[in-house]
Amino acid sequence: MQLSRGMKLVVASHNPGKVWEINQLIQPYGLDAVSVGELGLAEPEETEPTFAGNARLKAVAAAEGSGLPALADDSGLEVECLDGAPGIYSARWAGPGKDFGIAMKKVADEITARQGWTAEGPRANFISVLCLAWPGGESRIFEGKVFGHLVWPARGGNGFGYDPMFVPDGDTRTFGEMEPRDKYAISHRTRAFAAFKASMLDGIAASPVAQANSGRDVEAFAAAAASLSTRVEAATFVSRLKDDLAAHGSEWRNGTLESYLDALARELQRTPSSDEPAWRQLTKAMLAASTND
Ligand code: IMP
Repeated sequence: MQLSRGMKLVVASHNPGKVWEINQLIQPYGLDAVSVGELGLAEPEETEPTFAGNARLKAVAAAEGSGLPALADDSGLEVECLDGAPGIYSARWAGPGKDFGIAMKKVADEITARQGWTAEGPRANFISVLCLAWPGGESRIFEGKVFGHLVWPARGGNGFGYDPMFVPDGDTRTFGEMEPRDKYAISHRTRAFAAFKASMLDGIAASPVAQANSGRDVEAFAAAAASLSTRVEAATFVSRLKDDLAAHGSEWRNGTLESYLDALARELQRTPSSDEPAWRQLTKAMLAASTND
């Protein structure tokens, strides 16, 4: 089964950041993302023992419930000396309060118990698995991983989850110390999306606007905008957008202040109400105004 222009794709997540990120990826191909929340569908409980199993369970439920193709993801951290833990339980290790200070301490303590704090640091990887399912039950899996090692104490206030204790191979900074853009250039999620794009989207002709934007790294920008976690990061993002205008202004859909402000007003009108912070909604609209009609 293939995706084609004009199709709606259900995103099996209630997280508006994820839905927006996927929309940025698929809109240039004439596809439109709609979330399970907008369709009034509930997310099933993640009862499978693998990332792929849980992604498939969510995608199949959304496809069956909506009669449309659906995309779901599952992700987490795998630590080699902990036999892959926390793995599919990565979110749950943070407890009901979703406190990743507690989750990271738990990982560090488990590694200590196994005497895993070697000089090079314990090996670990993040993994992201995407599943695309069709209403008939057919499905495809796309996977991305980023390998590295862990450090303790954790370092850096950027990102989320286990980012402050993970150093990707080839770098000395933790994900928590990196600018969002640098993380998303190499992240497991970016790699899973790249596999999805290569196999499901690249056969569909991109729109002229998307082709004109090929010199700009709009995808990395979109991923960074969706994952901003503080107002300070949002301010940095806006400065980057300004630098991008200086470098690639001719590729902006709205390169004059007048047309840009018009597009920004339209984007803000389109922005659905959500529980995302207003500053993240605004930065996303600012990026979208540089590319959209
Ligand atoms: P999910 O939303 O069920 O996929 O849960 C993913 C969990 O894995 C998150 O709550 C984080 O704990 C962890 N995780 C996944 N991706 C990342 C990442 O990029 N950085 C840090 N933690 C991550």
